[in-house]
Amino acid sequence: MRPARALIDLDALRHNYRLARSRHGGRALAVVKANAYGHGAVRCAQALADEADGFAVACLEEALALRAAGIGAPILLLEGVFEASELAAVERHGLWMVVHHAAQIRMIEQAQPSRPYTVWLKVNSGMNRAGFAPAAVAAAWQRLHVCGKVADITLMTHFARADEPQVLSTATQIARFDAATANLPGARSLANSAAVLGWPDAHRDWARPGILLYGADPMPAANNGLRPVMTLESQVMAVRELAVGEPLGYGARFHAERPTRVGLVAMGYADGYPRSAPDGTPVSVDGQPARLIGRVSMDMLTVDLTDLPQADLGSRVELWGREVSVNEVAQRAGTIAYELLCNVKRVRFEYRDSAQHA
Ligand SMILES: *Cc1c(COP(=O)(O)O)cnc(C)c1O
Repeated sequence: MRPARALIDLDALRHNYRLARSRHGGRALAVVKANAYGHGAVRCAQALADEADGFAVACLEEALALRAAGIGAPILLLEGVFEASELAAVERHGLWMVVHHAAQIRMIEQAQPSRPYTVWLKVNSGMNRAGFAPAAVAAAWQRLHVCGKVADITLMTHFARADEPQVLSTATQIARFDAATANLPGARSLANSAAVLGWPDAHRDWARPGILLYGADPMPAANNGLRPVMTLESQVMAVRELAVGEPLGYGARFHAERPTRVGLVAMGYADGYPRSAPDGTPVSVDGQPARLIGRVSMDMLTVDLTDLPQADLGSRVELWGREVSVNEVAQRAGTIAYELLCNVKRVRFEYRDSAQHA
């Protein structure tokens, strides 16, 4: 069997959720959109079911998959509904929905729900992506309040640069949000992962941690005590010696500058390992630091085993996890941990959960 696999540590997931909740105070929606950032939304939600105050997903389809798996906790649709026909399922499954633009208010006003909706009204406090302008928030709130179809309105906003502690824009966004909502009642939710960890002023009634749940710290320098949830690993499937000057792999990107012992690893960009990873990207072989050499191909990649003479066929290769930080791989590859984690596919997923006695 091809040895490429993603080990998912559900104990680490629970540890990270508890850390987020205690750092923030109040309640926390565990963000499990995009298949829990590539970790498996159903398994992750089930692992958190006993303690999470609720979950957040991008869209109705993601929420229905959780309900079908028996998740009964509140589930928030972060983009709300895309068309009025989705409101029936929102009502039937008791889902919560973000309202971020006027068309969604019209859909709610025209619906005939048998029980009122729970809405999170989104304020554009400066990211300029989704949400009502500060000057339009009170009117939007009023329309939702008087239409008789909404029972509860939480006020929310989202930060553009909360992972940059030295940048003032998060403080500006908080101030704009507070000013826009000063005269409105209801719970508040501001903090994504970076704000949970780095912006106490953003701590209100509800946190919305995503990436931190999976153990990839959005501000790695701060050493916040997160535990990596995913270990992406495989094995050495062949070994070869390169003489000085010989090329390796597609495009001959790498040439041996010394006699080089190359390990061929069963992992490629079709598994989600980034093709953009340059020579020198860290890997770990049998627990020892090593480096990627040569261009990543669809099903395979190559690592330098010259300084690891004991490494051989079957040696374990970690691409990221406890030994190799996914943040560092992402940085080398010119992207972020979010994208690497979301992209993992084809590999076997194996779940570890010490709380599960089945
Ligand atoms: C994805 C998302 C989050 C979680 O963000 P992280 O940076 O992963 O913590 C929170 N809020 C909203 C609105 C989101 O879309």
